[in-house]
Amino acid sequence: MKYSGRILAAMRICIGEVGARCEQCGAEEFQPLPAGTVPAHELVCFVCGTVVTRRALLAQIAQRTMESAERFLQHSKRQRTQPRKR
Ligand SMILES: [Zn+2]
Repeated sequence: MKYSGRILAAMRICIGEVGARCEQCGAEEFQPLPAGTVPAHELVCFVCGTVVTRRALLAQIAQRTMESAERFLQHSKRQRTQPRKR
C-alpha cells in the first residue's frame, strides 16, 4: 500500500542508535499519517511512500539490535580463540 498524499514532516523511528529503515528503499525517515486517513499506528516512508506499521518498524529495530549484538559476540569470540598470526 502506498500513500500519495502530502507529507508534512519526516521523523525517525529509532531506539538508541538503531533506526528503522524502509524495506523498499532503505530510507530512515517516516511520516505519521494524518488523523482520519488510516489507523494512527501506521507511518509512511518519507521517500517512497510505502505504508508501514509502527509495530513492524519497532520489530525491525529489535531484530537489528539482536543481530549486531550477535555479531559483536561472534567477533569477540573469534578474537579470543584465534590469536592473530601476523
Ligand atoms: Zn521507502
